[in-house]
Amino acid sequence: MLLGPPGSGKGTQARMLSRAYGVPYVDTGELLREAAQAETELGRQIKRFLEHGLLVPERIVAEIIRSRLASPDCANGFVLDGFPRTRSQMALFQAIMAELGKQLSAAVLIDVPESVSIARLSRRLICGKCGSIYQSTEGGEAAICANCGERLIARPDDQPDVVRRRLRIYAREMGPVIAQFRAAGTLVEVDGVGDVDEVFARIQQELRHKSGISYTV
Ligand code: AMP
Repeated sequence: MLLGPPGSGKGTQARMLSRAYGVPYVDTGELLREAAQAETELGRQIKRFLEHGLLVPERIVAEIIRSRLASPDCANGFVLDGFPRTRSQMALFQAIMAELGKQLSAAVLIDVPESVSIARLSRRLICGKCGSIYQSTEGGEAAICANCGERLIARPDDQPDVVRRRLRIYAREMGPVIAQFRAAGTLVEVDGVGDVDEVFARIQQELRHKSGISYTV
């Protein structure tokens, strides 16, 4: 599991971990963005929460996450990003894991100061098709995904006022969740300032040392 504020690099690192360990990447935000595309009342409802940077109601998130984690491709493990995001979701997470007979190996908390989050999100572009994450450059090079060739787009919730709200919600909700993982001995803390490969190396080192987890591919 990856924890950290918006813009900490969770999504980028989760994708790298997913490739390295050969298990699926479960991105709660992306699952909700997909669900928001549906031309249904539920889809429209989810979209409104996403646009405003507000947490989607728990009963909606619960169903989406439960069915994703129960899928056959998650049977041998997964990298989870974006869930749990509140104390109450933490209880739900524990219940889902117990239902599925699974145990959390590690919760990796990526630490970055708020100024870094804001700077990164103001320049973030994502691929509209595969979700790969990029930083836009001053040079304005062709904004095309290196992975699948699709056009890159800015996320509507990366606008400064929405970012500030998302950071506030993170600060308010995640303290108790982090404390619970720390008390359980599953928390691994990593400095998220630096380039992508540097941070990835720190995560791997911490996972090897603290949890005995090493990757197989
Ligand atoms: P992210 O892609 O992780 O930045 O999440 C984008 C948005 O999806 C958040 O600002 C929330 O609106 C929503 N979201 C993601 N994860 C959750 C969650 N666990 N509970 C409720 N809403 C969520």
